[in-house]
Amino acid sequence: MQHRLQDSQWWRPERLRQAQFEQLKALLRHAAATIPFYAERLQQAGFHRGMVLDEASWSQLPVLTRPEVQAAGNKLLSKDLPEHHGRRHEIRTSGSTGQPVRIVTSDLAQTWFRAVGLREALWQQRDFSGFFAVIRKFERSDMALPPDGEDLPRWGDQRTYPFPTGKAARLSLLASVAQQADWLMRKNPHYLLTYPSNLAALAQYCGDAGMRPSNLRQVLSIAELLPPETRTLVRETWGVSIADVYSCKEIGYLALQCPARENHLHVQSETVLLEVLDEQGRACRPGEVGRVVVTPLFNFAMPLLRYAVGDYAKVGALCDCGRGLPVLEQVQGRVRNMLTTPDGGRYWPSFGSRRFREIAPIRQHQFVQKSLQRLQGRLAVERPLTPEEETTLRAHILTRLPIPFEIDFVYVDEIPISAAGKLENFISEIDNPPPR
Ligand SMILES: [Zn+2]
Repeated sequence: MQHRLQDSQWWRPERLRQAQFEQLKALLRHAAATIPFYAERLQQAGFHRGMVLDEASWSQLPVLTRPEVQAAGNKLLSKDLPEHHGRRHEIRTSGSTGQPVRIVTSDLAQTWFRAVGLREALWQQRDFSGFFAVIRKFERSDMALPPDGEDLPRWGDQRTYPFPTGKAARLSLLASVAQQADWLMRKNPHYLLTYPSNLAALAQYCGDAGMRPSNLRQVLSIAELLPPETRTLVRETWGVSIADVYSCKEIGYLALQCPARENHLHVQSETVLLEVLDEQGRACRPGEVGRVVVTPLFNFAMPLLRYAVGDYAKVGALCDCGRGLPVLEQVQGRVRNMLTTPDGGRYWPSFGSRRFREIAPIRQHQFVQKSLQRLQGRLAVERPLTPEEETTLRAHILTRLPIPFEIDFVYVDEIPISAAGKLENFISEIDNPPPR
């Protein structure tokens, strides 16, 4: 499988597309034959036996939304999984709004997932004898607790890394930022994997405290969108770069950072058909932003045909590294992380947070849009801000926003983590934004 991936990354886009559509045909035949939900959906979209499956016909299939998947439940399951796909596995996602989605996948799909995981390490030329540290949320709340976390004899399971690796350690995200920094200094790993929001808080803390783990070579960012300013922060604080991965829990890896260009994410076309669609449902061109719609090519246990993962991404041009895998230049947040202006404009807001520490002792922040005019700034601080500091902070934030919002500050001990285990810097509470 890894040999196949080594080879196919250099295929031209047309050849990759052709291979994807071959696999897609097999997936559609299987879905139509074994899942009444899809048989009906495909028929309604004009699909029939013997038709030519091409871009035009494929685009007629409606996008499958998360609420549809939740409502359909077991109706999306295939009763007849081909034997060589192995056993079924269940994945439960907590969902960013706490509404879980249940996904069933197979041994075969998981094997491809692990192969892409290994590809990521190979692309980034990771030294497998190094020490690998992970700070993340765990399903069980009693796992890898601070102050010491948990030590592990190797990086991951034998199937992902089918060769000897160095040691690893993991720490639960229940650890405070100070506990994480202390743990990181004691473990002094070569690699650190965590979520971008946590990474920003941790790097900020370490920068202020002058803490630099001397062995650290690279940071891996997963599960959330990585703001460019976090790359700068990590480079300035620890002198290392970030390897970013675009994934979602329901499906796994969607795109991996290019080994040659850090602002390019290469879609993992061998395992997933990823489309970026505009509001009319047309494919976006390079430079355009649209919603991400994916079809995992090897999950025959519960096919997801044109599933909208809820993210938006900017399409990039073909990469000059020579890989034919399509490029995403930036993956942007979910709709609930978009700021809405009174004229209906929508933005992924930036608050200029890199300057916050220069203005006042702010450890963490989160902004919440309460109305079309008003934002609430939740701040976790070392001491309450003076009125002058609040005024300076407000003025600084306003220079970054498209309109002069009213901003109130409230003080909290800690910014809560969302149901999906994420620390979101911005949340909109606007239910129905005005039409554009
Ligand atoms: Zn590239």
